[in-house]
Amino acid sequence: MNDLKDKVAIVTGARRGMGRTHALRLAKEGARVVVSDISQEDCQKVADEIKKAGGEAIAVECDVSKKKDVDDMVKKAVGEWGKVDILVNNAGICQFKPFLDLTEEEWDRTIDINLKGYFLCAQAAAKEMAKQKSGAIVNVASVAMGQVGVGFATLAHYSASKGGIIGLTETMAVELGPLNIRVNAVAPGAIETPMVDPLKQDPKTMEGVLARVPLHRMGKPEEVSNLVAFLASEQSSYMTGSTVVVDGGWLSQ
Ligand code: NAD
Repeated sequence: MNDLKDKVAIVTGARRGMGRTHALRLAKEGARVVVSDISQEDCQKVADEIKKAGGEAIAVECDVSKKKDVDDMVKKAVGEWGKVDILVNNAGICQFKPFLDLTEEEWDRTIDINLKGYFLCAQAAAKEMAKQKSGAIVNVASVAMGQVGVGFATLAHYSASKGGIIGLTETMAVELGPLNIRVNAVAPGAIETPMVDPLKQDPKTMEGVLARVPLHRMGKPEEVSNLVAFLASEQSSYMTGSTVVVDGGWLSQ
């Protein structure tokens, strides 16, 4: 498991949930990892976990919706290890709110973090990748990305942000391909992380979700990290602009 030896990876939203397992997995593959999120203390815990397992990591506090934070994060990665090879755009929020009650502020906050944040991080990282003419960016979308024949009640703002990520991914793939920077998206289904705690508190809703999943269980964060590690590595060297679904069969129903 040395696919990512000597690579430098940034993972956003990595203090918990899937971001944490992506960071651990990339480190296990040999990458030096920038563990980034809104809490320095929580990031440090994940970075320490990586170091304890024999890997290399630094913790960097960064709100992805703020350009200065993002630029500083990329500067820290370059300052520490001289380059950026991999970006996993993973940070996100998911607020359940009926469409008719959704406020402008709630809409803006979701779009700022889930979509603008992905643009800011990808642009800052890609500028570094362009210097070495190589890189891999993995954007975490969702099955709630639209255009798949399934709408998700109470997630208009979230779905709009995730759909935007697909357009961003495809456009970046076209523009950055000539620079040998690959850009792909992953679209997870229902994955067991703190984000879905509100769903789990309501057994009826949870039952409804699982009824739509042929494997009839939620996914584990590590099952998404397997895909992220693949897309970040040379194993996926001929893939760019793709969206890969990891959903226990949800969208096949
Ligand atoms: P999570 O809530 O555990 O993790 C999200 C992380 O993003 C948190 O650590 C949070 O602190 C961080 N974050 C929030 N706002 C931020 C900001 N402004 N700047 C930096 N970091 C910020 O949830 P998760 O399920 O691990 O989510 C990871 C990604 O996967 C998200 O993009 C989410 O939309 C996506 N996703 C999750 C599921 C699921 O079922 N859990 C399904 C599809 C897609």
